[in-house]
Amino acid sequence: LDRLDRALGLIASIPDYPEPGVVFRDLTPLFADADAFVATVDALIEPFQGRFDAVAGLEARGFLLAGAIAVRAGSGLVPIRKQGKLPRATESQSYELEYGSATIEAHRGDLDPGCRVLLVDDVLATGGTLGAAVRVADRLEWDVVGAAVVLELDALGGRDVVGGIAPALDIRSL
Ligand code: 5GP
Repeated sequence: LDRLDRALGLIASIPDYPEPGVVFRDLTPLFADADAFVATVDALIEPFQGRFDAVAGLEARGFLLAGAIAVRAGSGLVPIRKQGKLPRATESQSYELEYGSATIEAHRGDLDPGCRVLLVDDVLATGGTLGAAVRVADRLEWDVVGAAVVLELDALGGRDVVGGIAPALDIRSL
């Protein structure tokens, strides 16, 4: 079995979490396995190798991947956080959840305008989070080279939602 296939095979599906009817994909067994984690991180970097100056990790599981990607690829790292966690001036974007809404934000000034940025998260589901991240990146004038996720839940249509915001965005899922 290929290293990456083995890694992806470690992802667990948890029925009825966090609520009845939802199947939650749990990546913690993949993160816990040394070889699987390295294979996953390298596969996320590969399509964008040498083309980004910084990786932007989406809270919270995106942070785990982004830290490893930054060290492995020799790039900088910025967090895109849930509202109210960053101490300096930010650009923010709200997006709709099934019940209510959420807001994410990133610091102004951590990266210069034109900085080449790779967006990273563990899972692309409805696309609300990644779509909002693209809007934050746009306001900060980052040059977004693409988005990398481990798992894309095709049935939820996230790719189309993000494509409606950024048609040219190169979205890769493992
Ligand atoms: P979206 O905004 O695309 O609906 O959801 C993506 C965000 O929610 C990501 O930040 C991701 O971490 C989290 N998420 C949604 N569904 C799952 C899931 O089944 N498993 C995990 N690990 N994260 C999920």
